[in-house]
Amino acid sequence: MEQGTILINGSALPFEPGRTILQVAEAHDIHIPTLCYLKDATPTGRCRICVVEVDGSSNLMTACNTPAADGMVVLTESPKVVASRRETLELMLASGNHNCSIGSGRESKWTEVQMQAAASDNFDTLCPSWGDCQLQDLAYHYQVEGGKYPRRQTPYPMETVNPLIVRDHSRCILCGRCVQACNEVQVNRAINFGYQGDATKIVTAGDVPLKDSDQCVFCGECIQACPTGALTEKKARFDWRPWDVEKIRTTCPYCGVGCQQWLHVKDGRIVKVTGVEEGSPNKGRLCVKGRFGYDFIYSDERLTTPLIREGDAFREASWDEALYLVASKLKEIIKESGPDAVAGVSCARSINEDSYQMQKLFRGVFKTNNIDHCART
Ligand code: SF4
Ligand code: SF4
Ligand code: SF4
Repeated sequence: MEQGTILINGSALPFEPGRTILQVAEAHDIHIPTLCYLKDATPTGRCRICVVEVDGSSNLMTACNTPAADGMVVLTESPKVVASRRETLELMLASGNHNCSIGSGRESKWTEVQMQAAASDNFDTLCPSWGDCQLQDLAYHYQVEGGKYPRRQTPYPMETVNPLIVRDHSRCILCGRCVQACNEVQVNRAINFGYQGDATKIVTAGDVPLKDSDQCVFCGECIQACPTGALTEKKARFDWRPWDVEKIRTTCPYCGVGCQQWLHVKDGRIVKVTGVEEGSPNKGRLCVKGRFGYDFIYSDERLTTPLIREGDAFREASWDEALYLVASKLKEIIKESGPDAVAGVSCARSINEDSYQMQKLFRGVFKTNNIDHCART
């Protein structure tokens, strides 16, 4: 395939046709900041953080959706580029309740910002995404304090009416990553841009709360894609900061797909779960069970010891006693009525290997095909 050569920050870099400036830069370890760009989705150039200077163009170009061209000369951190990014960040921070510490330069208005955020959050501390926000990171990086423009308040209240996801429109920068995550990655098509101008907002069909949407399956992919505190896990809200938690990689316990997860563990307790972006087979995606269904671990109703029924009641038993009872009953039934008188259902939470062993036991040892896998969890 014929290659081109692009000059980025003075380095001549080869590239294959069809690559964007951002892709070529990333392939050569040149960092161009992004906010709206979502890997594997259609680049939109919406947030304009990835702007770069291209020789011969009077306007700055968005690197995420501008194709690289042979002979192109690009600067990724020129004074003009940096000034544009600073301006974009100022405008984003001027919209809504961005009460993280980057705003400390707002001096007299600072108390007002904090009070409005606290009233909206119903919590008197910094944004729940403080320390885990790409907008905050960029504001620090480019030394933007957020006081340059009058602050605009969103007309939309926080949506807290479902048990899993909090939608805080005051911290939404309308980057559209959630829309792409929902529509292009998970293909649930539950949300999109709605209304116009200052009233623009991310909406469900009919602008109903997520809980009343026919399309939302609460996979939480939108939360994982959101670069700010606009979408957060309700159970984890204000309950963690990145430096409080240990991230432990594991395999989802719910079904045989084997999705890779990060458990965010604080003081020995899981506070939230995210998908492992670089991990197969799910590439960061999770379903509602994998992302939100970890509470059962801490349920008081969880069985911790075998129970044997005696009459209408159960009594606790040792594993040896319970297994002996099950084995002897199975043997007795098979002897009296043949192998098709018994059946097995493998639990959906079992790993593939356990389900395999279960069907081997029934088919190979008991000589029956009465074996199934429970899809409900
Ligand atoms: S969303 Fe990000 S930038 Fe806004 S207040 Fe929260 S941490 Fe700060
Ligand atoms: S939870 Fe999943 S289905 Fe619902 S809006 Fe977010 S990405 Fe779409
Ligand atoms: S909710 Fe988050 S991901 Fe969606 S548009 Fe707003 S800031 Fe972007």
